[in-house]
Amino acid sequence: MTTFVDRVELHVAAGNGGHGCASVHREKFKPLGGPDGGNGGEGGSVVLTVDSQVTTLLEYHHSPKRKATNGKPGAGGHRTGADGEDLVLLVPDGTVVLDRKGNVLADLVGHGTTFVAAQGGRGGLGNAALASARRKAPGFALLGEPGEARDIVMELKSVADVALVGYPSAGKSSLISVLSAAKPKIADYPFTTLIPNLGVVTAGETVYTIADVPGLIPGASQGRGLGLEFLRHVERCSVLVHVLDCATLEPGRDPLTDLETIEAELAEYGGLDDRPRLVALNKVDVPDGQDIADLTRASLEERGYRVFEVSAASRKGLRELSFAMAGIVAEARAAKPVEESTRIVLRPKAVDDAGFTITEEDGAYHIRGVKPERWVRQTDFNNDEAVGYLADRLARLGVEEQLWKIGAHEGDTVVIGPEENAVVFDWEPTMAAGAEMLGRRGEDHRFESPRPAVDRRREKQKGRDAAEAEFLAFEALSSGRQAAIEGDDDEDY
Ligand code: GDP
Ligand code: MG
Repeated sequence: MTTFVDRVELHVAAGNGGHGCASVHREKFKPLGGPDGGNGGEGGSVVLTVDSQVTTLLEYHHSPKRKATNGKPGAGGHRTGADGEDLVLLVPDGTVVLDRKGNVLADLVGHGTTFVAAQGGRGGLGNAALASARRKAPGFALLGEPGEARDIVMELKSVADVALVGYPSAGKSSLISVLSAAKPKIADYPFTTLIPNLGVVTAGETVYTIADVPGLIPGASQGRGLGLEFLRHVERCSVLVHVLDCATLEPGRDPLTDLETIEAELAEYGGLDDRPRLVALNKVDVPDGQDIADLTRASLEERGYRVFEVSAASRKGLRELSFAMAGIVAEARAAKPVEESTRIVLRPKAVDDAGFTITEEDGAYHIRGVKPERWVRQTDFNNDEAVGYLADRLARLGVEEQLWKIGAHEGDTVVIGPEENAVVFDWEPTMAAGAEMLGRRGEDHRFESPRPAVDRRREKQKGRDAAEAEFLAFEALSSGRQAAIEGDDDEDY
């Protein structure tokens, strides 16, 4: 079945992690206490959560940019910065999340289903957490990581809550355009000549979708015209609204006869008897139209219809009609059982997060990998000690060893990270070449050799706002982690 698609593009930005703090405890007569700089707080994430009360993506049409708050920086005295707040965006059941290229990222089904659309940046470790047996008083801290930022597309394949039925030119499309606040794009529609219109209507607390059913003519249910195709849309609507033309000049037509003809087609199509119906007598702005409405109203009410006199042209009666439709939609929704779910949709891991790759291009060595890229983002390049720490981490991961193996030389250009946000170094190895390096792994080379020089002149790191493809869960910086850090086993940060 072809359906309407409510589609919206959304830019989501998670909060940045707060920077770690480098601080040394000071007390009277004890000028040099230990390092006491606290860790930065985590940036808030942007999270999509299914709420069965939400039925359209209307809200996101109005404000398509959403940002979570940043983590606060750490402070002296072991004070950890406050975490940023997650931004939770409520979406309708059945929302599909895609990237800009159209790849499906998540299919959100069931009340409570959650999807992290943009992961908040990690807070940087403060110098207290970076202290170890060998590095007793680090004069640096790690920077907080930028939060993820990305464009996503949300699509809701929806069946309209309300279907407007009626003869061609009764004013269905006109009514939708004056009733609705937003017009979702209609995708996937195979017809070029007759296109159903879809609108989103807000009446009081209720937000609902309304669609017209074009091409309904006598014989439509037998396949005449295109009515049959469109009738399929009506099947799951909660309310049918007859739009009757009070100003038609066609012979043999009047509102009552029109209604009977359309009802006959609906009956022929079948399965719609139980659907509540309303009648909108349209075009009462025309003098004859009002007269015809007056003449017709009583007989319609006798048949049990609730009747609304409206005009798409003068906007008369629209408020009453929209609230009546909202009432029936709300009732239908309340009667529908809520499908509970607390399924969490996990983001796929993009790359092998343990390793790294080195490729040689245009005479430069390009390093990619979750860890090396994260470590670069965490590094304050204005601080030599922080840069030395970065070099140590890279060496421990085996980056240096691999560079040697593939024939890199001192002074060669090494690029870490994605092209648009890379950091460029002149490579100055922290260890001598050859076999002996294997025996020396794990040692802190800063104590045996001159400080590894990483050239800052060509450092190009800019991007706090860069979208990074990193989906690792950030473990809380618990005291357990602290112990691991003491052992310099801090590759996981
Ligand atoms: P549909 O085929 O049912 O979608 O009908 P349209 O919305 O396309 O309207 C058909 C024609 O009727 C158009 O020329 C509209 O301008 C006109 N029309 C629709 N509603 C009104 C109304 O309330 N008053 C008057 N005077 N004309 C209307
Ligand atoms: Mg139309």
